[in-house]
Amino acid sequence: MALRLACLACGQGNRIPEARLASGPKCGTCGADLIQGKPIEVSFDVLERAARIDDIPLVVDFWAAWCGPCRMMAPEFAKASATLKGKARFAKVDTEAFAQTGQRYGIRGIPLMIAFRGGHEVKRQAGAMPAAGIIDWVNDLAGK
Ligand code: ZN
Repeated sequence: MALRLACLACGQGNRIPEARLASGPKCGTCGADLIQGKPIEVSFDVLERAARIDDIPLVVDFWAAWCGPCRMMAPEFAKASATLKGKARFAKVDTEAFAQTGQRYGIRGIPLMIAFRGGHEVKRQAGAMPAAGIIDWVNDLAGK
C-alpha cells in the first residue's frame, strides 16, 4: 500500500510504499527527508497541503515567540517527535509569521496542538504538555 505524504520542506505530494517508510524516503522534488524524527517548521501553504493529503498523523504545534508556555513546550514536542519517528510527523507553525492560521484553524489560544490524518482534523489540544503526555495523546489517535 502506498501512503501519501506532503514534503514538509517544499509541500510536494509524494507517494511512499508503506514498506519504505522506515528506510529514509526522500521527497522526489527537493530531496528532503520525508521522515525526520524532529519537528519541522512549516509555512501556512505547506501546512495546508500536508493537512489535506498526509496518510500518517501530522501533529502540528501552533506557537509564537512571545508565548512563554509555547517555548517551554518546544523541547517536549521535539522529544515526542523523536520517540514517535515513523508513526507520526511533527510540524510547527509560527502563528505570528502566518497570521492567517488563526482564522483558518479557529485558534483561540496557544500553544495548541492539532492532529491531522487523511485530510481531516482528528483531534486538538490546547495548553502545554510534557513529552509523555504528547506521546500518549498521539498514540491514542490510532483508535480514532
Ligand atoms: Zn520536497
